[in-house]
Amino acid sequence: MKLKLMITAAAFATMVATGAARAAEPVVGVSWSNFQEERWKTDEAAIKKALAAAGAKYISADAQSSAAKQLSDVEALIAQGANALIILAQDSDAIAPAIAKAEAEGIPVVGYDRLIEIPYAYYITFDNKEVGRMQAAEVQKLAPKGNYLFIKGSSADPNADFLFSGQMEVLKPAIDKGDIKNVGEAYTDSWLPANAQKNTEQFLTAANNKVDAVVASNDGTAGGAVAALAAQGLAGSVPVSGQDADFAALNRIALGTQTVSVWKDSRELGKRAAEIALQLAKGADPKSVEGTTTFSGGPKKVSMNSTFLKPVPITKDNLDVIIEAGWVPKATVCQGV
Ligand code: BGC
Repeated sequence: MKLKLMITAAAFATMVATGAARAAEPVVGVSWSNFQEERWKTDEAAIKKALAAAGAKYISADAQSSAAKQLSDVEALIAQGANALIILAQDSDAIAPAIAKAEAEGIPVVGYDRLIEIPYAYYITFDNKEVGRMQAAEVQKLAPKGNYLFIKGSSADPNADFLFSGQMEVLKPAIDKGDIKNVGEAYTDSWLPANAQKNTEQFLTAANNKVDAVVASNDGTAGGAVAALAAQGLAGSVPVSGQDADFAALNRIALGTQTVSVWKDSRELGKRAAEIALQLAKGADPKSVEGTTTFSGGPKKVSMNSTFLKPVPITKDNLDVIIEAGWVPKATVCQGV
């Protein structure tokens, strides 16, 4: 009985201490959609660093590509005391109940990298249409004519269509002229490289391997496409795009099996998102956040408070830029070259 009382007292003391700490230290809950992908680790490190610098606490959950799990993840982050949420949505529509719950509890939400088209969510990202334009432009330089494949992103992620519309903006004149032919176009379920590889294999078979370029929407899907090309002895002779500056992709660029990756410095995106989340948690008006613009280019044309960062294309010609920026060691890029 005595022991039981002691434990209860200790537990009570911990609860008081936690409560005091919580009041003093803001907590930011980050809900990742697919943390296994390389780029999100860099984003996470940047968010953690910015939060630590501001004396705030980081908590997180990974939905492992499940829209349903992401809903319970967000509930759990709220239950753990999050004062602000940063959400990388697995599915831009399915996430709505989580945003409604946060709004009902007055917890600000930052839609991270991917559009959550609900005005309550602040939107921070890179200019995704511009990423698409850069991908297409670099591939087109090497393949001004011929048969093109479009390995798009996940259909549940609005970025997939932003990217594709940027790609089309660049390529449409050549398509209309008949110089470029779209011989295969598919979304990649959950952005998984294995799905991209399967789609590329099927398109190659259908086109009797007569494919001159692959516009892949990120480095993961580019990896899948290059594996499919390699199996047909075509890796290196067919230009391929990507984005994220994944280490393996930068190495493929050096080796010549990938043409371009678009570098989105997620160290900056993560930092800005963390800072915005903290400002909003303190009650700042989103419109007063420095750099905020209004974006209404989503599928529903909703007006969103947003911040856009600038992407940079990386090809064989400017790999030094990304090495000098401290993103990646030279030895990693040049492995096997
Ligand atoms: C991001 C990309 C990423 C992809 C897959 C997109 O929304 O903008 O950088 O590669 O999701 O996770």
